[in-house]
Amino acid sequence: MKQSQLFLKTQKDFPKDEVAYNAKALTRANFIDKLMAGVHSYLPLGFRVRANVERIVREEMNALGSAEMLMPALHPKSVWEPTGRWEGLKKIMYRLQDDTGHEYGLGPTHEEIVADIARHIIFSYEDLPRSVYQIQTKFRNEPRAKSGLLRGREFSMKDLYSFHTDDESLNEFYERAKEAYKKVFKRMGLVAYVTEASGGDFSKQFSHEFMVETSAGEDEVMLCRECGFAQNREITTAKAGDECPSCKKGKLVSTTCVEVGNIFKLGTKFSAPIALKYKDAKGEEHPVVMGSYGIGIDRLVGTIVEVSHDDKGIIWPESVAPYKVHLLAVGAITPDLKKNAEELYTTLVAKGIEVLFDDREGVSAGEKFNDADLIGIPWRVVISGKTIEKGKFELKGRSEKEVKMVTEKELLDFFTKR
Ligand code: ATP
Ligand code: MG
Repeated sequence: MKQSQLFLKTQKDFPKDEVAYNAKALTRANFIDKLMAGVHSYLPLGFRVRANVERIVREEMNALGSAEMLMPALHPKSVWEPTGRWEGLKKIMYRLQDDTGHEYGLGPTHEEIVADIARHIIFSYEDLPRSVYQIQTKFRNEPRAKSGLLRGREFSMKDLYSFHTDDESLNEFYERAKEAYKKVFKRMGLVAYVTEASGGDFSKQFSHEFMVETSAGEDEVMLCRECGFAQNREITTAKAGDECPSCKKGKLVSTTCVEVGNIFKLGTKFSAPIALKYKDAKGEEHPVVMGSYGIGIDRLVGTIVEVSHDDKGIIWPESVAPYKVHLLAVGAITPDLKKNAEELYTTLVAKGIEVLFDDREGVSAGEKFNDADLIGIPWRVVISGKTIEKGKFELKGRSEKEVKMVTEKELLDFFTKR
């Protein structure tokens, strides 16, 4: 993509009305645009990062053996009534009424909807276990929507639901889902602690939250750095300095985290009220046992920015970066520089390498370098009158200090072998 053609205008300064770093940097670098608190547009660079995050999540959910589907955001009141959550979630559910008096909710989650669908699909033990997931827009009237992408009122979630005959089958799937989640976060360069937590709104049992350490988070976690044992402050009486109850070696520390994912054993909480049942081999009926598994897509984008930046801007891990290479043509854009830069750009693109090409004319080298650091693409390649003279290009990793001079062949080898 040529930067001169992109729907992009980086801002000179961080926005003054934002507190969270992800909101400041993503706005200034033009990845997102705030429509109102907790509601954002994704501009082209942000859209590509989000698509990469989604792709990693999809790959791991597919590998888990789950199939993707898509449920609606607009729900009738009737689907929320049997479980008591039309009342129970009234603080966070946006509600509407049409001119005939019918009431609707904008979905904050989809247990009721997926259980309703399952009544048309699951009848017998032979129909179990099953799991499905979606990546879909949720709506929640969040009172504290001021941390950029970390807490939206309209946000994208991957939500997966599993259906089982009994707890044993649920437990087996739950453990595999936990492993899949670990892979997802690791692939994005995040260290996520598997944290014991309460069932929250959804279940009375314990659940597991995937917590990433950052001062921008809203959760307090008791963590053992020795073995990674972690408990949400809300469910534990353990204090900082206590011996870790798991490894008995480390000491617990209190730390601030953001929850990027959450897995729940739901039991029959959502199946029993709507008679989602299956017949066992003897023909006896039982309620279906369910699990639910969430990952915050936008929250992940924001979290990556919170944990991976320096004083110049964002440092995207390669797996989610909007482009792999930021090609900068710097200095006076002479016909010769233009020709050489265009040729390199075309060659890189032809090799399947994702390139953002800063071909802007009348923009100083300093400004181009600053923009590149702010945007945070992993590899910067510079071409100028000077590099052409040497028959080489300048190559630098976003978090590296030193530039390397490389030939075109070395450059192509480097990127095609990564
Ligand atoms: P929190 O405790 O942070 O409010 P939650 O426990 O209500 O989150 P879940 O209902 O478990 O969240 O949703 C699953 C995942 O969706 C969360 O782990 C989080 O990553 C993401 N998520 C939840 N609420 C939001 C939000 N308002 N904005 C962005 N992502 C969210
Ligand atoms: Mg949660």
